[in-house]
Amino acid sequence: MDKKIPIAISACLLGQEVRFDGGHKNDAYINGTLSEYFSFLPLCPEVGIGLSIPRPPIRLVQHAQGIRLVGVKDPSIDVTEAMQAYSARVVEELTEVRGVILKKGSPSCGMERVKLYAPDGRSIDKTSGLFAAALRERHPLLPIEEEGRLGDPGLRENFITRVFVYHAWRELNRQGLSAGRLIDFHSDHKYLIMAHNQAAYRSMGKMLANAGKEDIAALALEYEQALMHALAKPAKRQQHVNVLQHLLGYLRQQLDSEDKAEMLEIIEQYRQGIVPLIVPITLLKHHFRRHPHDYIDRQVYLSPHPHELMLRNLL
Ligand code: SF4
Repeated sequence: MDKKIPIAISACLLGQEVRFDGGHKNDAYINGTLSEYFSFLPLCPEVGIGLSIPRPPIRLVQHAQGIRLVGVKDPSIDVTEAMQAYSARVVEELTEVRGVILKKGSPSCGMERVKLYAPDGRSIDKTSGLFAAALRERHPLLPIEEEGRLGDPGLRENFITRVFVYHAWRELNRQGLSAGRLIDFHSDHKYLIMAHNQAAYRSMGKMLANAGKEDIAALALEYEQALMHALAKPAKRQQHVNVLQHLLGYLRQQLDSEDKAEMLEIIEQYRQGIVPLIVPITLLKHHFRRHPHDYIDRQVYLSPHPHELMLRNLL
């Protein structure tokens, strides 16, 4: 790629020694594989509010007045307002990033399932870190994920797909939107959307039916919301099968009965979990190379991210 996609990230995941104990949580997959495609903007909210390295650990405590970010051993250390002020300022500046990777479990960075304590020290619930909560509130459509969840192949593929789509969408907006460009973008992403959410696929088509007659800025906002919500969950196996069958339909006239039977057999093997998604996709691409089809050749579904990431190679 000539230009890497900008991603904000918890600094400790890049190996920066910013944790409370002076250590880091270097993540080899992020620092190695993903760094080929993403440029990282490291952030450490706790260092950002002026805490030292090392520092006394802090945690989230539920008080009658709300959740406080306080010292584990010394509850008189209270950095709630400082963290809220830092978060409000920094999330406002994150308009150019196309995704965020956060450190799980942190009372500042953790996206979800961060321990919430009672004042007496009992663990009573799970919540979000204060910085992560502010980030999600300000940028609800921005792809955000935790490094722990990136270990799950489905969540990893979904996050990276969303980053690439969001990046393409923001670039389109930067270049200038028109009704025609919006419709082109939607056409390119149709089967990707269908794989994630059939209902959204149908409603987004209707949304764009009068694209030339509506206010383009308002329509773009509505479209962006629908797009990112549609992609929010990983596509299920049966949804991929459905899309693969649709795509195969475009080759009805071109393939002989043997090729068709082979293609159907491979799709069935994928449905049964015998082969990974990359297998039917590769065979389909092979057929479309021999029988080019303008509408299918442009489908992002066939290559939503670089094949070197091998995100569709696992069962
Ligand atoms: S989890 Fe967040 S606040 Fe904690 S060390 Fe890492 S970057 Fe800093």
